[in-house]
Amino acid sequence: MFHVKREEWTVKKNECYEVRITGYTSEGQGVAHVEGMAVFVPRVIAGELCRIKILKVGKTAAYGKLEELLEPSPHRQKPACPTAGLCGGCVFQHMDYEEECRLKAQRVSDALTRIGGIDLGPIAITGSAAVGGYRNKAQYPVGLCGGVPEAGFFRQRSHQVIPVEHCGIQSASADQVRAAVVGWMRRWNVPVYDETAGTGIVRHIFVRCGFRTGEVLACIVANGEKLPREKALVEALHAQVPGLASVVLGVNTRRGNAVLGDRFRTLWGKDAIEDELCGLRFRLSPRSFYQVNRDQAERLYGRALELAQLDRTQTVLDLYCGTGTITLCLAREAGTAIGVEIIEAAIADAKENAKRNGIENARFFCADAGQAAMRLAAEGTRPDVIVVDPPRKGVSADVIEAMAEMAPRRIVYISCDPATLARDLRLLEQHGYRTVHAEAFDLFPRCAHVETVVLLSHKKPDGHIN
Ligand code: SAH
Repeated sequence: MFHVKREEWTVKKNECYEVRITGYTSEGQGVAHVEGMAVFVPRVIAGELCRIKILKVGKTAAYGKLEELLEPSPHRQKPACPTAGLCGGCVFQHMDYEEECRLKAQRVSDALTRIGGIDLGPIAITGSAAVGGYRNKAQYPVGLCGGVPEAGFFRQRSHQVIPVEHCGIQSASADQVRAAVVGWMRRWNVPVYDETAGTGIVRHIFVRCGFRTGEVLACIVANGEKLPREKALVEALHAQVPGLASVVLGVNTRRGNAVLGDRFRTLWGKDAIEDELCGLRFRLSPRSFYQVNRDQAERLYGRALELAQLDRTQTVLDLYCGTGTITLCLAREAGTAIGVEIIEAAIADAKENAKRNGIENARFFCADAGQAAMRLAAEGTRPDVIVVDPPRKGVSADVIEAMAEMAPRRIVYISCDPATLARDLRLLEQHGYRTVHAEAFDLFPRCAHVETVVLLSHKKPDGHIN
């Protein structure tokens, strides 16, 4: 193939070009081409004709910004949030939800064909009923703005705090907790954490809500074991947050970007809140993973369960199980369900969740998914179905190997990154599996992420050893 050398690119920094937007990057930026080179432009929509200015020319692509919209898309809309474009969270506020769902489904389908070599035709997507206020978790960095404590979001690619009174994808409870904590800090001169010096106290405000139970957990992340005026904090939260069930101090004295530390002290109420998902009740401690969009998670898990096609005798293995949300749903329809997760606190929650739901056929192991899967395979465990729901980096090579060795009839793969999903599907196809179904679920309206659920079948189901 003809290869264009860098010095032959004619795209020039600071020059303006008229371009048609043809598609999107995985982060949601628009893609156009200038003289054969891909140019990435934020906040534009496929089909739009724009005048763009080139900000940077890289080795294989250039980066531009919108100067003038010459032909706007019918999907264009005014961003609802005054800080859209500043915080970097919602990248799709400039388009309607229909276009956002279309592009997310396209992204999944493109990844499957280009990276996975799998062509399943157009991919269906289930959009979220709620496009705003859907998040049950918020974490606000705390900083000084003009010498006054504030909480909001970091400006994109910086650690400057932008105060935000209301974020459109957050709940009213998150706003109420934020306002109560900021008010308490101002009233009692509670020091803000200074990340450069490592001094000061309050770092983050973390909020988690059980949308079904109405319970709210407020966690104040501090650079120390104690807060000044703890009683006044609890009183302020009580007065301003309906549904408050738990006030927790999270201790994080380490430098760096991690929000939560690993020590927690309950200042008032319960240590953890509860929520209901798929008809089961779950205990949620601050560190446990819980999908941020409850209603959509219920739909996604419901489909995963259908695809697993369990009868009450089968054994199902759920790798990367978190607090056991999916494992316990599976257990209700299986003979035995085994959950594996690396975070100890999540496994403790999972065991507790099994107990409180009266589920006796679920077992949980705290281990690395790859190591646990290798061990189970070596011990001769032969699950009928394996469900995996890994973090963004996908499953590790040893998980693929161990799954191939255990040779379940079906694998249900839930993924939050279409690119790593497609990479893993390609590997599983080389190990005797066929991807028979894929569909997308939007759990993150206005944001770039998309979830996918995939069913793989063993090409030779009779080769399955029981
Ligand atoms: N299935 C759960 C959690 C999915 S999130 C749910 O839907 O609620 C992915 C989970 O994988 C997280 O809980 C994370 O702690 C866990 N994890 C990350 N790396 C892991 C590894 N190497 N082995 C096992 N679990 C891991």
